[in-house]
Amino acid sequence: MPHRDAVPTPEATPGFGSLNLDPRVLTALSALGYEEPTPIQRSAIPHLLAGRDVLAQAATGTGKTAAFALPLLHSLRTDAPPRERTSALVLVPTRELAMQVAEAIYRYGKPMGAVALPIYGGAAMDGQIRSLKRGVDIVIATPGRALDHIRRRTIHLAGVRTVVLDEADEMLDMGFAEDLEAILAETPTEKQVALFSATLAPRISAIAQTHLRNPEIIRIDSAAVKAGNSAKIRQVAYVVPRAHKMLALGRILDVEQPKSAIVFCRTRTEVDELTETLNARGYHAEALHGGLSQEQRDRVMKKFRAHVSDLLIATDVAARGLDVQHVSHVVNYDVPAAADAYVHRIGRTGRAGRTGTAITLAEPREQRMLANIERVTGQKVEIAPVPTVADLKARRLEAAQAALRETILAGELDQWRSVVKALTGEFDIADIAAAAVKQAAASAVSDEQEIPETVVRERSRPPKPESATNAKVKRVKPGWAAARIYIGGGRKVKIRAGDLVGAITGEAGVDSTAVGAITIFDRHSIVEVPETMVGEIIAALSRTTIKGKKLQVRRDRAV
Ligand code: AMP
Repeated sequence: MPHRDAVPTPEATPGFGSLNLDPRVLTALSALGYEEPTPIQRSAIPHLLAGRDVLAQAATGTGKTAAFALPLLHSLRTDAPPRERTSALVLVPTRELAMQVAEAIYRYGKPMGAVALPIYGGAAMDGQIRSLKRGVDIVIATPGRALDHIRRRTIHLAGVRTVVLDEADEMLDMGFAEDLEAILAETPTEKQVALFSATLAPRISAIAQTHLRNPEIIRIDSAAVKAGNSAKIRQVAYVVPRAHKMLALGRILDVEQPKSAIVFCRTRTEVDELTETLNARGYHAEALHGGLSQEQRDRVMKKFRAHVSDLLIATDVAARGLDVQHVSHVVNYDVPAAADAYVHRIGRTGRAGRTGTAITLAEPREQRMLANIERVTGQKVEIAPVPTVADLKARRLEAAQAALRETILAGELDQWRSVVKALTGEFDIADIAAAAVKQAAASAVSDEQEIPETVVRERSRPPKPESATNAKVKRVKPGWAAARIYIGGGRKVKIRAGDLVGAITGEAGVDSTAVGAITIFDRHSIVEVPETMVGEIIAALSRTTIKGKKLQVRRDRAV
């Protein structure tokens, strides 16, 4: 009998089961805690499985990797001799993405023993050649390095059935058009091509016209989403590297002090981990996901409604159809895969004339999705810095003060007064009070770890090459072969991203498009610049002052 607390079961929503995927892939997805396909997966997978070419508009964070990777796992030929074994070639713009995609394919294809190999520039050829010789099912390559292997005849593409162009717009922006043509010419004529791109700009249509045959065109988020009452909702986003997200969220919640909040995660695994972390931080968080029985779900919801728990950590599937009247905060632990999911989620706050806050944690690469959400909803999402340790301390002092005021006003302090009295002979009364506050505050979780402030700037186009003859050399460098510069000053001396961009463009005389990701730590900062320009930029910065100080500037040793 359904009653008010009933939570829909995930089986009620079409999950991965309806996509005709290999049962072993389903096992892997379930182990990863994926509950249902994202919109791009739902749209693209059936066509790719049917052998169609696909032209899809989807940015990072939409789940596009699984959208093309899962179908690829259906045409594996793990028993074929190494030279014929490679059945798919995935071309990506950067080494980071190559590693990320290879890791994802490894996880999805683990039950079937799929071998995925990332090959990218900057790494030794020998290791890659050895792995290729042993036999690889899916090669994930940056165009330059793929071409290198093709020319040396160390990669064999005769068995390739599918070519994926991932982040095609970025590859074109980085000047890879010719390389892509050359690589595609080396693959069998009869093949499936899937092109993924954040935009479907004319130059993408051009490449699609040449290489895709009667493609299925998929656009996600093309229709404007009605933002409903989200005008009353304060929308804030924090850009945080993945490794720091748990800590960052704990700190954000400490500062925001939500009365009741729903935190949305992508996977069951994330829900469980986050629930554990937040409980350790002193919250009363409850997990809600498709892995729970109906009875467990009802119990969780009962506690949340009765305010026994203050945080509900949930997957989209589990939270769908939840009858929760109002929460003060909605937190997107990841940027939702589609703008309408975002609008739907944040609609749970700001209800019935009340104000609410929607918080989104975005990884640096997901900033494009935030921009997309702003475009689709027609509303601004403010990007705020993650609270620092100092912010947190200030907030805790404020909270301690407020709590004390409340306790004093509530009275009934007689039995505690005798303790104070006993100590007044020995100590100053202000010291006694301060010690009591300190003791109370000591129970709070210690959180002193540094979370870097990341400001990722769009590295949309490489700086213009100086001349045509130079173009080849210049082109190989910027954008992806980024060098990292260490600057011996950070948040402590109030350095902001703008100061660094200003210093680099002003002093080294380079275009601001030549400045990549900027990460500001407490005592130092890291700036990515094109390898070709690193020398001149370091020299120029060494000559100048930043925020009135002469700072140490050198190539970052980490790379
Ligand atoms: P991508 O857009 O491919 O970079 O994927 C973004 C993130 O979403 C990755 O961390 C994936 O592991 C995750 N992801 C992809 N598909 C799903 C899904 N159906 N359910 C939950 N998480 C997913």
